[in-house]
Amino acid sequence: MLYTKPNRFVYFDNAASAKPYDQVIDLAGEVAKELFANPGSIHDFGNACNRWIDKSRKSILKCLLPESLRNAFEVVFASGATEANNIAVLGSAQAKAAFSRRLITTTAEHSSVSNVFAKLEREGFEVIRIRVGADGDIDWPAYEAALAKPVGLVSAMEVCNQNGAILPVAKMAAMAKAKQPRAIFHTDATQSVGKIDSDFSSVDLISFSGHKVGALRGSGALLKRKGVAIVPPEVGGGQEDGLRSGTLNAPGDIGLGLALELDKANLAQRTACAKAVNDAIREGLKGTEDLVEVLSPMDSCIPFVLALGLKAQRASVMDQFLSGEGIFVSTTSACDDRKQEPNAILRAMGFEPHVADNPIRLSFNGTETLEDAKAFLAAFKTGLGTLKHDS
Ligand code: PMP
Repeated sequence: MLYTKPNRFVYFDNAASAKPYDQVIDLAGEVAKELFANPGSIHDFGNACNRWIDKSRKSILKCLLPESLRNAFEVVFASGATEANNIAVLGSAQAKAAFSRRLITTTAEHSSVSNVFAKLEREGFEVIRIRVGADGDIDWPAYEAALAKPVGLVSAMEVCNQNGAILPVAKMAAMAKAKQPRAIFHTDATQSVGKIDSDFSSVDLISFSGHKVGALRGSGALLKRKGVAIVPPEVGGGQEDGLRSGTLNAPGDIGLGLALELDKANLAQRTACAKAVNDAIREGLKGTEDLVEVLSPMDSCIPFVLALGLKAQRASVMDQFLSGEGIFVSTTSACDDRKQEPNAILRAMGFEPHVADNPIRLSFNGTETLEDAKAFLAAFKTGLGTLKHDS
């Protein structure tokens, strides 16, 4: 036993890492055990492994794109969204540098995108950051103005990992293509894949992670429109068309296609379940407005995320308290949970600094129960009543 679960185990941290499907674990185990050939080897055993990987590529394209778009894209397997985002943003900005060194992104991006733009900025690129409001909508006049001159790359996430707000990516991409047809459009779809049906018709690059969609940690992919040029940030054996060198993670990559198929098949049911739990918590929080602000918008938000800003207490202290009660949540995104820095993304959305810097993020995968919601509400309210207030 690697971890002994507490008697009560309420897992509301699926946006950080979701439970993998049993079928995916079984398939990945079989691949690790039976198909241990290097998929790059040209003998029969290697080819067999490669065929399973290609089957997974087809499933991924089928799950994420309509039939009309599938042939236009290819799958580049990566270790997750961080790597896929790095390949997409660094690689396409560099490939476009001779055409334009102007880049557009948003204020809501995950650090695996925003830190890449910061790096490009240090290298002399001009980076324009468009403000994203609490409802996920963007500053359209600023965006239109930014598109008035040539642009190499536009990158906007589809769902904000901090509060679940849905950004208008399809509209942004269509506008970018209309005004700057040579610009590449990338979206970090890590929190939207498996949660909403997306319109990627004007998008060129799509990144996501396996462990948010019921696949294994260490798996993920970049979907790339064929013909879009990318300078690979790393070099090596030249796998994945030279874009991501290194022996493919066959168990993870093969599991990824299956996870997306399963996720797609039960999307309606998971959405309804997450919505019921989300609604019950929102309802149960009525009367706590002096201590809690709901950071997730009512509309234009996935029901799988509910973020709550604490007005008087520390989110890290509440997180630890809930953990002691067998309830597992995040403070911002799990990647940043151990840091105590101002939350620039939620501040840019307009939330008051203390509230922005003290968010509790609940995230569901659509298998939770109303009992879980009740347990959370009881523990959270106890925490609100007993934990020390900041002076
Ligand atoms: N983008 C977004 C929106 C995310 O939520 C995350 C994970 N928190 C990532 C990228 C990075 O994913 P990974 O850690 O799996 O590389």
